[in-house]
Amino acid sequence: MLGGMQDWEMRVSGLIDHAARAHPTREIVTHWADGTQSRTNWHDLRCDALRMVQALRRLDIYPEDRVATLAMNHARHLASWFGITGAGCVLHTINPRLFDDQLDYIVNHARDRVLIYDVAFHPIVERMRHRWPTIEHYICFDDPHHAVTFADWIAVEDGDALWNPGDERGPCMLCYTSGTTGDPKGVLYSHRSNVLHTLSMLQPACLAIEPRSCVLPIVPMFHANNWGLPWACAATGAKMVYSQVADAAVLCDLISAEKVTHVGGVPTVWFSMFEHMEGTGRPMPTFEMALSGGSAVPASVVERLMRGGIRVVQAWGMTETSPIATVTYEPPEWDAMTFDEQVACKSRQGRAVYGSEVRAVSLFDPFSEAPRDGDTPGALQVRGAWTVKRYFEAEEDTVGSDRWFDTGDVAAISAEGVVRLTDRTKDLIKSGGEWISSVDLENAAVAHPDVLEAAAIAVAHPRWDERPLLVVVRRPGGAVSVEALLVFLADRVARWWLPDAIEFVEALPHTGTGKISKKDLRLQFRDYRLPE
Ligand code: ADP
Repeated sequence: MLGGMQDWEMRVSGLIDHAARAHPTREIVTHWADGTQSRTNWHDLRCDALRMVQALRRLDIYPEDRVATLAMNHARHLASWFGITGAGCVLHTINPRLFDDQLDYIVNHARDRVLIYDVAFHPIVERMRHRWPTIEHYICFDDPHHAVTFADWIAVEDGDALWNPGDERGPCMLCYTSGTTGDPKGVLYSHRSNVLHTLSMLQPACLAIEPRSCVLPIVPMFHANNWGLPWACAATGAKMVYSQVADAAVLCDLISAEKVTHVGGVPTVWFSMFEHMEGTGRPMPTFEMALSGGSAVPASVVERLMRGGIRVVQAWGMTETSPIATVTYEPPEWDAMTFDEQVACKSRQGRAVYGSEVRAVSLFDPFSEAPRDGDTPGALQVRGAWTVKRYFEAEEDTVGSDRWFDTGDVAAISAEGVVRLTDRTKDLIKSGGEWISSVDLENAAVAHPDVLEAAAIAVAHPRWDERPLLVVVRRPGGAVSVEALLVFLADRVARWWLPDAIEFVEALPHTGTGKISKKDLRLQFRDYRLPE
């Protein structure tokens, strides 16, 4: 016997239908690269998306064809998310900071037929187009000189169209992992996985996005489903604020002027905001929630945000998990905790959200679960309603019959289910058969007032196998010495974890999403010799 209720397809077009009906005048604001601003709203954005559905059909682009974007954050890009998926096509967001060989690989692997791009990335298009034979149509979001513009392309349509109907398990969006090992892999989200991920994000214990929210995603739209923020904002008719530029002064101005409540960014975003405030003497802009993900947020950053009256919500996940799998929501005992305990709580990666399950398996025996004692590190695995099963075009599933997906992260899970990420498997430093967490070392180092950024990497050692090298960027005006930093660290980490060497550098290499690139750093220091 089945239940007596309606089947209601969970497709992302339903999200913007809701926004346009229930919250038609809620705004989407864009700060453009040239400093101008424009405003649209959910009603008009839906009309643009429907026009785009017609324009794609006119080009003979069919459901399940891949349509790519190469663009920063703005309202036209947002309209294209709903237009592409509403036509039943697959939205492929390309990270413009990938290397040419990766750009070549992913466009050809995805067999993208259309590319819509920001004029700022015209040099990439010029350089790559002879390597992208599958792309038949180039459309420019913002400039008439190089290709037909998005506005002109959709202007001839009347928007009197219907979304493409289809199975909710049909393909919706394609995001490639950065490919730190081997070729990038495509994660093909379904409409259903994205809608379920959205419903989870809206919960008060998760991101608490609601109609009165005003969300500024600083995380780029090409990164990991943009953390699901476009879908979540449509689902509630929240106001959105986008900036094509990631300059801290512009972002702080926008937060104040538009009364932003939620800001989503990787930890480097908070660092650059702090730097801006120190450089200018301006106070921290007020907003309700800092959503931090992508890499571990140091306790010193959590503390500073919390002292500014901001609720910090750290989320852990990856492209393969849509991306949100765990969140640092406040536990029932929150109010009884001291401030320091609250900071420590927010500095961990939190508990699984409903719809995602996590476990850590022993680093020595993949068939047994690591003890849930909050201390023993294990290989972190996840499964759930928005976790990858099979990479795009792969011949077999990436998970076994029990569906556990190996994240490549290392974590200790407590008896209460709180996840504390200690490293990525390949970043762990193996010293004399024991593991040193590069993340813990880095967090301890950035707690020093003179340290802006720090990264710990393994360097080969004849006796211990590997030993840590700490590479540090000092704050402007900071003068901390190697000896002083070692004394500072000695109070915070086990003695045998202390780095064998500390090197000061002007800057650390970062990935396209603003994370420290350990891969590049290891390359930079590949011939490094530790002092005797
Ligand atoms: P990329 O591989 O390009 O960095 P992802 O966003 O998929 O793209 O990266 C996911 C990885 O980022 C995770 O496996 C984890 O190592 C790291 N990560 C994400 N969120 C957090 C977090 N809150 N704390 C620590 N590490 C995180």
